[in-house]
Amino acid sequence: MKVAFFDSKNYDVESFQKFKTSGLDFKFFETKLSLDTVELARGYNAVCVFVNDVVNKEVIDKLISFNVQLIALRCAGYNNVDIKAAQGKIKVVRVPAYSPNAVAEHTMALLLTSVRRIHKAYIRIKDFNFSLSGLTGFDLCGKTIGVIGTGKIGKEFIDICNGFKMNVLAYDIAQNKDVKAKYTDLNTLFEKSDIISLHCPLTPQTQYIINKKSIEKMKKGVVIINTSRGALINADDLLEGIKSRKIGAACLDVYEEEAGVFFNDFSGHIIDDDTLARLITMPNVILTSHQAFLTTEALNNIAETTINNILDIEKNNSSKNEVII
Ligand code: NAD
Repeated sequence: MKVAFFDSKNYDVESFQKFKTSGLDFKFFETKLSLDTVELARGYNAVCVFVNDVVNKEVIDKLISFNVQLIALRCAGYNNVDIKAAQGKIKVVRVPAYSPNAVAEHTMALLLTSVRRIHKAYIRIKDFNFSLSGLTGFDLCGKTIGVIGTGKIGKEFIDICNGFKMNVLAYDIAQNKDVKAKYTDLNTLFEKSDIISLHCPLTPQTQYIINKKSIEKMKKGVVIINTSRGALINADDLLEGIKSRKIGAACLDVYEEEAGVFFNDFSGHIIDDDTLARLITMPNVILTSHQAFLTTEALNNIAETTINNILDIEKNNSSKNEVII
């Protein structure tokens, strides 16, 4: 199969080239897939896409007209693909799990950085400023953390939180008996948690699950963490919550309007997104650029599973990782 690989980065090329023997022919395009770039897929049997490629109905119709047979997502979430438009016409495969612990560990890294002010200390020490003033944090031990979504990543993160002797509240539409947390309703979780971490997928039900109303229910000083999908949070409401001092800190690896910004070097440029720019100026907001997945182990797993998914479709016209609704 000839595979057009969109939004490719050096680390993608490195990890996929480790599997040179697969017999698949990859062409790496740095550009994202969108209606403007879909012509590049002409002559290929499959496209390989990531979280910010735009795979809407128009793009899918074009891919079908070019005889592209497969959309291979090299990620778990598929909210950027119009699965309904693809169904029965072009196959969609994904990597359901590549390293849940990579994302869970990054979530804890963000939380610890925030509550122990490591980001401030790092910059201060570089300037030989050894003062401790303003760096007072708080213990995680004994605090209540509310975890929304207790699937693969949520469960890993809860295990880590239990290691820190935190009280873990959880909310999910499907409870997992292996999860060591007290399941509760969403309102109780909002009201009782000192820290709230999002690990559910982006769906019409979860979009803006963190909004003005839910923020009102939370404790003053609450820390909100999102390593899942940007649109789980209404960013303007989050900003208001931070400005009013209701929200104590936010740790964000994802942002609703991240496409076109995240994964790119904008140093020396003017950021047009005022909400993002304002969030970045906040002393109590830590932002990483959708990097929670970015470990060597996860990249290898992504490459291996994606290649196996494509080979399965090539050989058997089916894959256990097909997205079907
Ligand atoms: P998963 O499918 O294993 O778990 C998701 C959980 O969310 C499930 O238990 C499901 O029942 C629950 N859920 C679904 N709808 C819900 C709702 N309305 N309310 C509460 N819970 C609900 O997925 P996962 O592997 O744990 O991944 C979770 C999310 O993490 C993914 O959807 C993806 O968006 C995100 N992710 C981010 C990165 C990153 O680099 N930042 C990497 C991988 C995944």
